[in-house]
Amino acid sequence: MRDVAVIGAGLAGAAAALRLRDAGLSVTVIEARGRLGGRTYTRNFGDISDRLEFGGGWICERHARMKALAARFGIGLRPTLPIAERRWHDGQVLRTDAPVAADKLAAHLRGLQAVQADSLAMLGGSGRWETGSPWAAMSFAEYMDARGLPETVRREFIAWWTLSGSGDITKVNVLDALLSASYCGGTMEATLEELTHTFEGGVGNLVERMIAESGAEVILGDAVVEASDRDGQASLRLSSGREVTAGQVVVAVPVNAIGTIRFDPALRPAQARLSAERHWGRAIKVLFRVQGVKPGILVTGEAEGLRWMFSERELSDGSTAIIGFGLYDEVPDTSHAAMLSAVQRFFPEATLLGHDWHDWIRDPWSSGTWVSHGLGQSPLFAGPEWAPMGRFHFATSDIAAEASGWFEGAVLSGEAAADAILTTHRP
Ligand SMILES: Cc1cc2nc3c(=O)[nH]c(=O)nc-3n(C[C@H](O)[C@H](O)[C@H](O)COP(=O)(O)OP(=O)(O)OC[C@H]3O[C@@H](n4cnc5c(N)ncnc54)[C@H](O)[C@@H]3O)c2cc1C
Repeated sequence: MRDVAVIGAGLAGAAAALRLRDAGLSVTVIEARGRLGGRTYTRNFGDISDRLEFGGGWICERHARMKALAARFGIGLRPTLPIAERRWHDGQVLRTDAPVAADKLAAHLRGLQAVQADSLAMLGGSGRWETGSPWAAMSFAEYMDARGLPETVRREFIAWWTLSGSGDITKVNVLDALLSASYCGGTMEATLEELTHTFEGGVGNLVERMIAESGAEVILGDAVVEASDRDGQASLRLSSGREVTAGQVVVAVPVNAIGTIRFDPALRPAQARLSAERHWGRAIKVLFRVQGVKPGILVTGEAEGLRWMFSERELSDGSTAIIGFGLYDEVPDTSHAAMLSAVQRFFPEATLLGHDWHDWIRDPWSSGTWVSHGLGQSPLFAGPEWAPMGRFHFATSDIAAEASGWFEGAVLSGEAAADAILTTHRP
């Protein structure tokens, strides 16, 4: 029997395993998928040698733990390409001079300023858990109505929302969107500049190195279906029928997938409610390989449901990678024809060589993308609801006390779960 079983081999699970091992404990990591990494997913695109990020990719300057881990494993950080050219699709035409026509510019700027003022007023608050804030009880859609934002600002705000939160705008509170903007001087426009780095070789490489270094026994492609804390030990039953016992368990699975495990004793009411309701993070990230497009062009607007695209970098075969984001439910058609039309609406000069993506919503081990709080859900994500329960210690970016939704939050939550175990079980 190992000291600790970690359920889930994403960044939270990897961070927990590494910290436990650094302190001398033995660990088993159990992962439902046939690969490590969870919502990090670095892989090839077609037959080119470059490895691209089909899950998360960027970190921010302030993400100190991610930067420290990259340094520990000698993984280089690649600066995000600066924006060399800006374009906006205003619904009718693709513009390169200004986001909107001259006669709409004054109203557009006033709308942006209103959002900026609300956003900056949040600085210094308690972020997502600011349940007393009027924005916690107001949906994104209601906010745009209440502020009387012109159509042009709404289009921009939602385009950036596909990158910062991504839930249905009638279901999520507006807190997340305003909070994201507050990190960027209150403007959505500066969001990309906040995403300062990606990982050389991919963030998936980092997770693999962390788990290898942890020396954990790794069980891949076998989901935990039951977890019980009885008779002085934790027992896990896997989908293959295998049993694993451990002194303690780190449950490092996404909130939207925790319902795949039956817990005995049962989860707390708030946890069970969240597991049933799920959070609202529903983005679609599509990668395009194109010819004829210069790297460094940022376009927002609406094209076949994908509202945000950036020509991110040149690939080894001379083609360019474009990253596109949209709200999942607005992009029902991902056929070649639909994606060709989408990419050419923003990049008329593009020849599409191919597109590829991962369906994080239908994937049962994520059932969503990064966390996005629904109206009234924020208190369910708060610390006390996910405090250790007997031998079960919960960790995932979705519930992180800091940097929730980011890689950084995943690592912090995994390390916090490991620390909670180490306070009582240090060998
Ligand atoms: C498209 C996309 C883009 C993103 N962009 C960014 C970005 O640019 N920057 C950033 O910081 N973050 C980004 N994120 C968010 C980031 O990827 C996540 O916050 C983080 O990776 C979550 O880590 P985690 O360990 O908490 O969860 P996960 O990575 O989801 O790991 C949980 C693991 O548990 C496993 N699991 C689930 N159920 C079971 C079970 N019953 N038994 C065993 N194993 C189970 C899963 O298979 C998974 O491997 C993005 C996410 C997506 C999807």
